[in-house]
Amino acid sequence: MNILAIGSHPDDVEFYCAGTLLKYARDGHRIFITLTTSGNIGSNVIEGREEIARVREAEQLEAAKLYGAQVRFLRNDDEGLQDSPGLRRALIDAIRWAQADVILTHFPGDTSTDHNVTGTVVGRVMLSLPGKNVAAGEPPLAKTPSLFYWDTGAGVHFEPEVYVDISDTIETKLKALALHKSQFAWMSTFQGISLTEHSRILGAFRGLAINRPYAEGFRGYRIHGYMPDFKLLP
Ligand SMILES: [Zn+2]
Repeated sequence: MNILAIGSHPDDVEFYCAGTLLKYARDGHRIFITLTTSGNIGSNVIEGREEIARVREAEQLEAAKLYGAQVRFLRNDDEGLQDSPGLRRALIDAIRWAQADVILTHFPGDTSTDHNVTGTVVGRVMLSLPGKNVAAGEPPLAKTPSLFYWDTGAGVHFEPEVYVDISDTIETKLKALALHKSQFAWMSTFQGISLTEHSRILGAFRGLAINRPYAEGFRGYRIHGYMPDFKLLP
């Protein structure tokens, strides 16, 4: 299968679903990553938005190597994301480019602005994926993907419907996350906990629900013709 993870910022994919992506990659599935922004305000240390984006895209490309993923950057401004015809078209093209069987993205109830908009707009374009007359640069999808929403920071406002046991991929997940070196200083602006510690605690918390050391939680997106097939999760 082709698995597409759509994040808002470099580090989102590693933080929220790398344990699951590593399992998919190990099982021989192809991994694709799309980011709606390059996180170009995510540093108070690096000078200038262009340089921040350059550093963070390079970090994302390094992390993507752990799943052999192809990466597509949509390069909208960080914290400036809004639903628009341009964003819809870019997301339709990204999903078609990946020929996605499974899409993983942000939960629309995530109150981080870019996360909320990314997750919301991905859901809004689902019915446009097979349309020949949709404004897009890639040919329509012939098949129906399943869309799953990943967790939120600290699990705020999120109740998983299904859990993926990531006990055997958690350490590689945390290594992938640690490749986002620029984000350790940035995250300390908000919280007295590192990115990797936060991710480990959230994984351990979700693991409690299924009596395993670590898990990632997901919810399924539902609309006519696009009921989630939970059996597609690893
Ligand atoms: Zn983010």
